Amino acid sequence: MPTNIFPDRDKFLERPAKEALLKQKGLVIWFTGLSASGKSTLAFALERKLYSEGFLTQVLDGDKIRNGLNNNLGFTADDRNENIRRIAEVGRLFSDCGVVALSAFISPTQAIRRMARSIIGEANFFEIFVSTPLSICEERDPKGLYKKARQGVIQNFTGISAPYEAPQNASLVVDTTQYTVEEATQKIYTAVIKKIRASE
Ligand code: ADP
Repeated sequence: MPTNIFPDRDKFLERPAKEALLKQKGLVIWFTGLSASGKSTLAFALERKLYSEGFLTQVLDGDKIRNGLNNNLGFTADDRNENIRRIAEVGRLFSDCGVVALSAFISPTQAIRRMARSIIGEANFFEIFVSTPLSICEERDPKGLYKKARQGVIQNFTGISAPYEAPQNASLVVDTTQYTVEEATQKIYTAVIKKIRASE
């Protein structure tokens, strides 16, 4: 037997093998919408629901990513772009190993979401527009950010001093003024479950 020859080394394990192991299909559920529209709330509620049904997920949200992987990025246009590029790459890694990634970032422009979609791949990208109106988001203001943005303490704040371009081709639109968290979660669950469930 020749030594130092590893014939199987170049054969990486393909995605379907990992999906079969997990008994589910990988997907990136991409929430977009204004600050306080409900992206994180719904992503975490959906994660719990999917977990209770036996599916493995990973939420990617601002607190995790901006304090960790992307802690060297700010809110200039270039940094917002790089923030989303890295998140999309991470989402792709998760979906490539059969995990359902739930990404909850404002991702304010068509161009930035187009980039995410192209990194992740059309078939793996499920876009949810959390369309809660600005007036309601501002009323909620759970972190006091809108108040600071109005005072000019925070600049380039989406919806106040930076634009938000609503998606034209979202897979699903959820206005949280129309539904409770439970209702919205159920609506999203119903829309995504066919893409996640392993085919029989
Ligand atoms: P985002 O991640 O979009 O910035 P968050 O989820 O952090 O938004 O905040 C949304 C706020 O709105 C939370 O305080 C949440 O409790 C509240 N909220 C009220 N009703 C709803 C609803 N139906 N769906 C989602 N969030 C809601």
